Amino acid sequence: MAGSAAVAADPRDLFFEDDEATSAAELTQKALIDTQERMGMMLDLMPMGLLIHTQQGILFANQEACRMLRIGQAQAVGHHFLDFVAPNDIASIGEQFDASFNARIEMHSRESRIVHRDGTEVHIKLISCRLPWQGTPVIQVLLQDVSDLKRTEQKLRRMTITDEMTGAYNRRHAFYEASLYIDPERSDRIALSAIMVDVDHFKHINDAFGHASGDLALIALTNAANEVIRTQCHGDSAMFARIGGEEFLLLLPGVELERAMALAEQLRHAIAQLAVDTPSGPLRLTISSGVATFGEADRTFDALLSRCDAALYRAKDAGRNRVVAG
Ligand code: GH3
Ligand code: MG
Ligand code: MG
Repeated sequence: MAGSAAVAADPRDLFFEDDEATSAAELTQKALIDTQERMGMMLDLMPMGLLIHTQQGILFANQEACRMLRIGQAQAVGHHFLDFVAPNDIASIGEQFDASFNARIEMHSRESRIVHRDGTEVHIKLISCRLPWQGTPVIQVLLQDVSDLKRTEQKLRRMTITDEMTGAYNRRHAFYEASLYIDPERSDRIALSAIMVDVDHFKHINDAFGHASGDLALIALTNAANEVIRTQCHGDSAMFARIGGEEFLLLLPGVELERAMALAEQLRHAIAQLAVDTPSGPLRLTISSGVATFGEADRTFDALLSRCDAALYRAKDAGRNRVVAG
């Protein structure tokens, strides 16, 4: 012991040991800083947004999260993620955050929208879970930008429910929507009226102006019908569909026969006013309509359509360019 005490007492030895310890600590600290930097870089390079969030606000946001939020990394700290969420989604995301703060490792996932000041929206898939953290509860929030996916989804959906040429809803969608309203299981059944529309003497129109101009007339007719819906059917879920070549159906949920007749008359008038611009000059057209309202006697949507069809036939028979109730 005396020998080792003598060694320890040597000031040069003490200095040497200290020096070795200091450089070891420095190396460890440097390695730690390197690791942190590496981790930071890795988080920034992730193709997914990442937030470390306390109940008060953001502690850390990676580059992708900042791109989605349109904010600098330093500015993000302290903001609450809910500040960026679309007003309609705030309650549900708030609930999800609460669930994550209170859970142990469970993952919570939901779709939401971030809204920018200029009104543009980023659709995101949001996954949150609580992180092991000392003291204050902390959650990790992963953000996946699904805007492109959403746009494609909306485009595909639009394609499946509309007619490509006119942009009107297609027959399948109109029939599907109608089936929802006449569902006998539904306790809150509302009135449903339908206006069946057929262009008068369309064969002659095609012969006189050519098929391409006939197509333009069908597009103009659809636009005019949608304008009538826009201006006359506030709040109604009215829907204009192309159910055949030059045959259309205006579905009017919540509308009784009298008002449906008035709307059919307005539509007839609007179409008669059109002068469709074509290479062979202005094209004028008229329509005939059969109108009916779903009643107790009607068991199916087909029954309602048969009454519309019969009324339409009578309108044609009576000289066309008119509205008849079925
Ligand atoms: P009516 O007054 O009795 O209805 O006479 P109409 O000539 O309109 O008779 P009908 O309904 O039998 O004829 C419809 C015509 O519509 C036949 C067809 O060539 C034409 N047609 C159907 N679909 C299209 C289309 O997409 N574009 C064009 N240009 N014509 C179409
Ligand atoms: Mg026809
Ligand atoms: Mg016709």
